[in-house]
Amino acid sequence: MMIENLQEQNLFSDNQPPGVWIEVILPLAIPKTYTYSVPPELNNKIQIGCRAEVVFGKNKKYAGIIKLICKTKPAYETKDIVSIIDDEPVVYPKQLELWKWISEYYMCTEGEVMAAALPTHLKLSSEVILIYNEEYGDDFSDLDNEEYLIAEALLLKKELKLAEVQLVADIIHVYPLIKRLIDKKVCFVWEAFTDKYKEKKENFVTLNPEYSSDEKLSDLVNNFKAPKQMELLLSFLHLLKTEGEVSQASLLKKSGATVAQLKGLADKNILFVEKRSVDRIRSLPKKMEVNFELNSFQEKALVEIGIALSKKDVCLLHGITSSGKTQLYVKQIEKFINEGKQVLYLLPEITLTAQIIRRLQLNFGGNIAIYHSKFNNNERVELWNKIKTGELKIILGARSALFLPFKNLGLIIIDEEHDPSFKQQEPAPRYNARDAAVYYASLFKAKVLMGSATPSVESYYNALKDKYSLVALTERYGGVKLPEIKIIDTKTVAASKKGKVMISPQLKAAIENALQNDRQVILFQNRRGYAPFLICRTCGFIPQCENCAVTLTLHKYSNKLHCHYCGNTYPKLITCPACGSVNWMEKNFGTEKIEEELTEDFPRNRIARMDVDAVKGKHAHDTLIKLFEQHRIDILAGTQMVVKGLDFEKVSLVGILDADGLLSFADFRVNERAFQLMEQVSGRAGRKTEQGLVLIQASKTDHPVLSFVQLHDYQKFYENEISMRKQFFYPPYSRLIRLILKHKIKEIVQDAAEILGSLVKKDFPHLAGPAAPVVNRVRSLYLMEILLKLPKDAAHLQSQKKVIGNYINLLKAEKRFRSVVIIADVDPV
Ligand code: ADP
Ligand code: ZN
Ligand code: ZN
Repeated sequence: MMIENLQEQNLFSDNQPPGVWIEVILPLAIPKTYTYSVPPELNNKIQIGCRAEVVFGKNKKYAGIIKLICKTKPAYETKDIVSIIDDEPVVYPKQLELWKWISEYYMCTEGEVMAAALPTHLKLSSEVILIYNEEYGDDFSDLDNEEYLIAEALLLKKELKLAEVQLVADIIHVYPLIKRLIDKKVCFVWEAFTDKYKEKKENFVTLNPEYSSDEKLSDLVNNFKAPKQMELLLSFLHLLKTEGEVSQASLLKKSGATVAQLKGLADKNILFVEKRSVDRIRSLPKKMEVNFELNSFQEKALVEIGIALSKKDVCLLHGITSSGKTQLYVKQIEKFINEGKQVLYLLPEITLTAQIIRRLQLNFGGNIAIYHSKFNNNERVELWNKIKTGELKIILGARSALFLPFKNLGLIIIDEEHDPSFKQQEPAPRYNARDAAVYYASLFKAKVLMGSATPSVESYYNALKDKYSLVALTERYGGVKLPEIKIIDTKTVAASKKGKVMISPQLKAAIENALQNDRQVILFQNRRGYAPFLICRTCGFIPQCENCAVTLTLHKYSNKLHCHYCGNTYPKLITCPACGSVNWMEKNFGTEKIEEELTEDFPRNRIARMDVDAVKGKHAHDTLIKLFEQHRIDILAGTQMVVKGLDFEKVSLVGILDADGLLSFADFRVNERAFQLMEQVSGRAGRKTEQGLVLIQASKTDHPVLSFVQLHDYQKFYENEISMRKQFFYPPYSRLIRLILKHKIKEIVQDAAEILGSLVKKDFPHLAGPAAPVVNRVRSLYLMEILLKLPKDAAHLQSQKKVIGNYINLLKAEKRFRSVVIIADVDPV
């Protein structure tokens, strides 16, 4: 029985032995929540959503989340909790409901959801290591005795295991103490899985707040004597206006002034120079200035969205590229903020660039914050708490921002809703943030606005079936036409040259033409590295990864062969291990090779590459985008990264180098993905002034998807696609669950898949497999897959998942299959 008010309950404890028990979620993959008893002295401290320090297993300790409080003694023996860590809940009941829904829908445990949801600092366990925060310094006057002891030990040893903390403090209840130390920023929790990085510090310049009023500022400027300093000050003001913040480096560069001249202004107390972390969440003033005008199409769409959201909870905004969807989101956000509500703005991770952040900060100042995996743990906890109190109104983040403890959520915006990166692949929870967001919003009676130029087939289907409402924006802002698309038949080019066509003469000419007109070019190729595989000309041998069944990609920068599945690298082969020949052929081409050829063909132009290898550093991605924005790069060649949501003024030409590659994946979504990628990357061309041009190189030039892209015809694409989905009983007509089995030994995983297949076949006649996937070995594990197609009606969905879970358990109960890893991926993408 769940109770709300413990005091009241204690009054009528009759024949039951008095006592309180709590159900706790532990950040582990155990199937159920765990029940503990609460010692009487802690009774008045327990609240749902607070963390309790508990012992699990032999003597491992964890901070678990209290999910339920009950007064009935369970049928089994329970351990006492050790302590209560928080005075205030860390999460609200609504977040716990979301965890539960995700665990049921995506077939994982609540503990796994918890592990994904909470920032590292809130996940304490015996294995956790505390790291001393060097920035704290050694002034411990703010600390109490116990805190002081630990801080001193940390200062000396730099890091401590939780077990060591226990010894040093000589108290039993260490978790609350650790919480205080983290809150006071004496230490961090070290996260084994994230890269440790040194925070990058840079000098930033700010204006003395005394001059923040326009009068005071013009007074200052009008009465200024020193001309050099005056110039510097004006440059500062200009940068502040355009960039929002001013780094010392950018200021000196813009003004051509010296450090000494800057120091002169600082000495006069007009400007301040301060060192701060580049990633620090900026504390901007909390003002809102949403004072731009919408054009008539946007205005109409805005009204329609308003009506749509008053009738339905979810609205799909289908707006072509560069139609100004962001501006519509801004207006919607403003509306909900004015009603006192919080807004979550979800984006694919890679689109979380300075570009969009700057745009939104321009409108919402310090009311908006970014929740980003690149931020450090302290900042993430800071944000967590500010969202929980409702102080922060707007959060911009990738999928994990869904787990933030909103208090009063009014609107969720899902930008680029079609993007597959909203779905988490590994590890569990394998949730789709777009779909989970719809559920989460319903808990708050909040609204969802999804937007895309190329909506996912599922969302568009929902809109046509009246589950969502649909608003269309069919004109580009500024009236520029969508780019003209030409298809280059590489078969005719290949005849004159050997090997695969990388940059056809037509494309080369178009690049030359764009560059001559002082325009920029984007080239898209969905393969990174230099050559996706090598082949021995003499015997046909192809180097493969030792751990995975994939060919190795040659990378020039490392001069090694890389496995893109497990990350292993191998020295470049000189002689063929099979026949000893030294005659290799490079097959196909990746972004590195394109960059190399461009450098040869356009020696006077600035060329850059954008892929995961090129943007490894923390800021490399933003820096590249900035350089391109400022036209300090002429040609940008890259993978999917160049496709997403970027807004550049001077790009007049986009080249898609290998459309065949995009259209040849063995997946039922291949056409959808290819259409989205091509239409989106085309959308980067000719956004502002004149119509752009897109050249697509392909050998299968009669592929229907190419003609849909050529006409920018989403509807035709959709009609074609949906009829195929219907015919082959794929989503949105069915729901998919992919069962993936993994084991070191091929025979074992094959046998396990056979047996599991025959078990599930009884209940699920629509199934494909068991079969080995195209890449049937990854990280030394052999893979088998079974794809279940479930009917659409949701009524039985939950019980069907239980049935599947039971079959998996049944199989795992057999000794031979105990170590087979079995993953259920619901709605796989
Ligand atoms: P989308 O997200 O639909 O591709 P964007 O929101 O990036 O389009 O808008 C495209 C460009 O048009 C951007 O540079 C944006 O600043 C500009 N823009 C759109 N709407 C307006 C408006 N109402 N006023 C001024 N500029 C606008
Ligand atoms: Zn050979
Ligand atoms: Zn590998």
